[in-house]
Amino acid sequence: MARLAILEFPDPRLRTRAAPVAAFDAALERLIGDMFETMYEAPGIGLAATQVNVHQRLIVIDTSELKNDPQVFINPQILARDGLEVTEEGCLSVPQVFEEVERAARVRARAQDRHGVVSERELDGLLAVCLQHEMDHLEGKLFVDYLSSLKRDRIRRRLEKEQRERDGAPRPRSGVPLRVGAKVI
Ligand code: ZN
Repeated sequence: MARLAILEFPDPRLRTRAAPVAAFDAALERLIGDMFETMYEAPGIGLAATQVNVHQRLIVIDTSELKNDPQVFINPQILARDGLEVTEEGCLSVPQVFEEVERAARVRARAQDRHGVVSERELDGLLAVCLQHEMDHLEGKLFVDYLSSLKRDRIRRRLEKEQRERDGAPRPRSGVPLRVGAKVI
């Protein structure tokens, strides 16, 4: 397995609409393994293929405390939404930014697994929020799009400055302090 580079806002490649996964083959298995490794090491609780510059409809999630519940969603669809919930979200592609976003509290989702088998599930809590966040990535949408343009521009300028500084003096991403309790998805 290999750790993949994560695209960061405002990288225009994050705006790409992903295409359906068609081949459930060894290359897909490898990509899923690499995405889990990248997500766990970041650390985050969800990762869409878009974020590692692979524009296919593939999401990996693990919302468990012990990081022992890896879940794969391929070609996901939301069939029904119910209720509203406000959650403080972060994103591996928008480092160090945590903002409240309102989403459906419960969803009924249909997706394929790594073998192409279709199933439907009712999701709630953090898993429901996380799936909606990751599915936005597949449409080229980011959680900062839910904020005011003023706030989003401020975040964009700050991250561009950090990216310029980092390009000038490379330093590892690991060790970046995360706000305690916030979920980076
Ligand atoms: Zn994200």
